[in-house]
Amino acid sequence: MAAKKAIETFSKSLIEDVHKWGCFKQTGVSLRYMMEFGSKPSDKNLLISAQFLHKELAIRIARRAIELENLPCGLSHKPAILKVRDWYWDSFRDIRSFSEIKNMNDEKEFTEVIKAIKVRHNNVVPTMALGVQQLKKDLNPKIYKEDIVEIHQFLDRFYMSRIGIRMLIGQHVELHYPNPRPHVVGYIDTRMSPVEVARNASDDARAICCRQYGSAPDVHIYGDPDFTFPYVPAHLHLMVFELVKNSLRAVEERYMNSDKVSPPIRIIVADGLEDVTIKISDEGGGIPRSGLRKIFTYLYSTARNPLDEHTDLGVGDNVTMAGYGFGLPISRLYARYFGGDLQIISMEGYGTDAYLHLSRLGDSQEPLP
Ligand code: ADP
Ligand code: MG
Repeated sequence: MAAKKAIETFSKSLIEDVHKWGCFKQTGVSLRYMMEFGSKPSDKNLLISAQFLHKELAIRIARRAIELENLPCGLSHKPAILKVRDWYWDSFRDIRSFSEIKNMNDEKEFTEVIKAIKVRHNNVVPTMALGVQQLKKDLNPKIYKEDIVEIHQFLDRFYMSRIGIRMLIGQHVELHYPNPRPHVVGYIDTRMSPVEVARNASDDARAICCRQYGSAPDVHIYGDPDFTFPYVPAHLHLMVFELVKNSLRAVEERYMNSDKVSPPIRIIVADGLEDVTIKISDEGGGIPRSGLRKIFTYLYSTARNPLDEHTDLGVGDNVTMAGYGFGLPISRLYARYFGGDLQIISMEGYGTDAYLHLSRLGDSQEPLP
């Protein structure tokens, strides 16, 4: 009933087109493929890539557009979710109204279109988080467990798909500006130093911690700074940033009122044959076993809901220390996107270890929800 009302905003032909494209099969790409393809950004390759995206993005966006109409518990009708829904439908329309890509001129124009789409969707994550918070606020405690699971699974699919869409658009756009550093292929750095990225991400997390608490525990990083492997530095930065923020918060809160010096957070980078693993260890007191099941869900956070403090959150680049409960599940999606994973092991009363596994080989296909 309500879902029907939402969809009435769009023309019949657009709705039909979305449903048609939403049924087509998606095509996954691997890190290795993106790297090899992108290392020769000839006109011919750019054309092939644009033609591929013209179809693939329509398919991927259509799936999400349809899903956004049919969420449980009335989530589809939260104002923030409606906004996201419109972004998806608008982007689908933009892509579909672009006719066939035949030459380099079309390719250029199409690249501008998808560049604009990427910008349009910049704030999808905080806006979705806002919608979920809006729902969480007026949900009665009797909300069905199945609904929570369903929302969680939807968000996992939704964000995973978004990571892929942004990777594909970003990679295509970047290939128009060959990087002066020959080892950088679009978003991929074929010689990324995980130690260096971990350093930068920790510094950023510490800065936010200082802003919030007035101080921040040290972060010690162990590993060979010269060790490199192909990966997307922006993805690794995001994951380490979220994990270190969690650790800093746990340690700060535990030692805030104590006269002991806060123990440092330790990051260890190990290079295996299959995986590069990054362990982030803190002595912030850990997570009770009963809470462990929940930490990867989008509705769970032990921090105060940021909506209670600010009313206009969710549409800026307002970075807070914690509170949306999105840090862990999103980081795990980034890890899984290229075939890795994220695990959290806790010792209640002592601290937490986060194991971030990144696949070295880069040939796993994108997961396609
Ligand atoms: P947020 O940080 O916004 O609450 P996260 O998904 O990053 O969301 O974390 C979810 C919850 O998991 C946190 O609120 C916290 O209760 C718990 N948590 C995560 N990492 C740690 C850690 N290193 N030590 C203690 N608790 C943690
Ligand atoms: Mg967090």
